[in-house]
Amino acid sequence: MTHPIPDEAGWDSAPSLLDGAMTLELTAQTCDLRYWLAAVPQGTLRGQVLGHAPEVQAPDFMREPGPLRDALSQELAFRSIAEEKATRAISYLVAAAPDNDTMEFFATQLLDEARHAMVFRSHLLQLGVPEDELWDTIEKLAGDDRDRILTPLEQLGLEVLRDNGDFLGGVVVLTILVEGVLAPAAELSERKWRPLDPAVADIERGAGIDEIRHLTVGSSIAREHLLRHPGDKAAVGALLERGSALWATLPTQEQIYRRELLFQEGLRQHADVVGDYEIWPGRRMVDTTPEERMQTAFEWSRTMQRSRLEYMGLAEVVG
Ligand code: FE
Ligand code: FE
Repeated sequence: MTHPIPDEAGWDSAPSLLDGAMTLELTAQTCDLRYWLAAVPQGTLRGQVLGHAPEVQAPDFMREPGPLRDALSQELAFRSIAEEKATRAISYLVAAAPDNDTMEFFATQLLDEARHAMVFRSHLLQLGVPEDELWDTIEKLAGDDRDRILTPLEQLGLEVLRDNGDFLGGVVVLTILVEGVLAPAAELSERKWRPLDPAVADIERGAGIDEIRHLTVGSSIAREHLLRHPGDKAAVGALLERGSALWATLPTQEQIYRRELLFQEGLRQHADVVGDYEIWPGRRMVDTTPEERMQTAFEWSRTMQRSRLEYMGLAEVVG
């Protein structure tokens, strides 16, 4: 007997990350291991071991040295480190899960994140990084940003999860402070790379479909917990405030701006390839600026966070 692939995980039927994360309601009870086996390895990822179909490849110009390749390499290196850190941190959520549904769900999320790290990393090989230089290249491209951006976030997550064994706190840090903040950047990335490197756009599409599940299930776990224990809202609110204050100190804008400037330069060089492609309805990508793309992702992030926080019953404890 074969198991049907749920719509929200089908390559062609799944919504975009932003739409899915704002409109779908998925729970740990639904998204258990059995669901994941049918939905992900046999659904979203069928035939796409490296995150895209084997015949979908980066075009030759993406392998040539220049601003476009630099922009993508920096992004892939940084994201692969971020996903690896997430994978390791989620092992503490698996360990601390209070019941079998949440344990199974986070075990699947752990594999999803390990896969994201792997596919981002392997795309660097497609861009021409020699295999024996891969790890050194990642270090060179993203080591500084890891130390300045990812390590402080990781420390907060590990303090909550590993040191305090605080499952709910860990879910909130992961869902709101990490994935909720980063998801719109992933959506932007898929849209930006679609006409330039379809393989990486597909990698993003697959990771985005996973992300819908991470965001919706993570929020539902927090929501259910807070419905049962409304007294925990104050502590979650304090944690969110601490997390936002931490984010405000991280040089993320500077990092993204640096990459967007490189992308802009590459976009100008390859305007003929991009043609009239619209990054969002009514807006040709060749007409956009780094500032406009960053501002749009920021607005997506605000809208999505607001709807997630309301769903969790946390809108009133966050300023
Ligand atoms: Fe991920
Ligand atoms: Fe995720």
